[in-house]
Amino acid sequence: MNAAPTRLPRSPRSILVGLVGQGVGPSLTPPMHELEGARHGMSYVYRTIDIDPAHAAPEHLRPLLRSARALGFDGLNVTHPAKQAIVPLLDELAPGAARVGAVNTVRFAGERMIGHNTDVTGFGSAFDAAFGDEEHGLVVLVGAGGAGSAVATALDERRIADLVIADVDAGRAEALARQLGPRAGGSVRGAGSAELPRLLAAASGVVNATPFGMAAHPGMAFDPARLPADAWVADIVYRPTDTALLIAARACGLRTMSGLGMAMGQAADAFEIFTGVRADRAAMTRDLQDLVAAEAASPA
Ligand code: NAD
Repeated sequence: MNAAPTRLPRSPRSILVGLVGQGVGPSLTPPMHELEGARHGMSYVYRTIDIDPAHAAPEHLRPLLRSARALGFDGLNVTHPAKQAIVPLLDELAPGAARVGAVNTVRFAGERMIGHNTDVTGFGSAFDAAFGDEEHGLVVLVGAGGAGSAVATALDERRIADLVIADVDAGRAEALARQLGPRAGGSVRGAGSAELPRLLAAASGVVNATPFGMAAHPGMAFDPARLPADAWVADIVYRPTDTALLIAARACGLRTMSGLGMAMGQAADAFEIFTGVRADRAAMTRDLQDLVAAEAASPA
């Protein structure tokens, strides 16, 4: 008589991903992914890969990508200063990544490496959740850096009549406006920050994409009291979640949107790209709130 075949116990699905960038040690993205993976019964490992800024050039990133794939990574998140430099090394770009010319998520799909930008999709879905399909007149984006570029790309696709990108470096703002190109449903232009008081007085809403509001950059890049009474204020800074700007805006009776939705959305979208499994966004939001609160309670 033949013995019944022995059944191997099923091991949980395993996922290995990482975050490549400078100073990525304190990032909250790894615990967000690992907590979400655990919720889905996965064995989910998320490593940080800290690089020297001098190693953000394509000749250094190419062997890093090759090694990560050879070591069995399913994908990588990418942050400053490698988001643009990694683009020419990839086989394919998702539409948002192609438009912004920067990638924050790479999925290894067999031999192919596919680049996505979940900062664009993360801000876009947070904006839609906050403002629905409202139509907007003039929207001012303050800050034309790395995150500002992703935000501008998402705003460009929304029902906004006029988009003005303002930065202390007016040339950077103008270059970003040119990169977006002519808008089907409205206009886009760059401006210096000296124009801000006049722009804000006529705006439907404003987005802060400068570092002002972070613990290391206290204060506000502009005064929300200059906005009309029915305007809204969005901040993408989320550590802390209640920035000086949002507190001041609420004191003026303005509607606000915090940076938490973008931070959660970029992580949830990347999780789905890496795993093909739908993320539990409500649970990820609670996790991120807890992580930010824990960090504030013990900053070390
Ligand atoms: P960055 O340094 O690349 O760009 C900041 C830009 O702001 C620069 O162009 C700078 O000239 C401009 N700026 C600074 N002070 C200004 C002022 N007073 N008026 C007008 N422009 C001013 O930084 P980044 O990578 O774009 O990130 C900006 C902030 O966005 C970070 O500090 C971070 O807190 C936040 N962020 C949030 C998320 C999220 O998921 N919510 C993601 C990325 C970054």
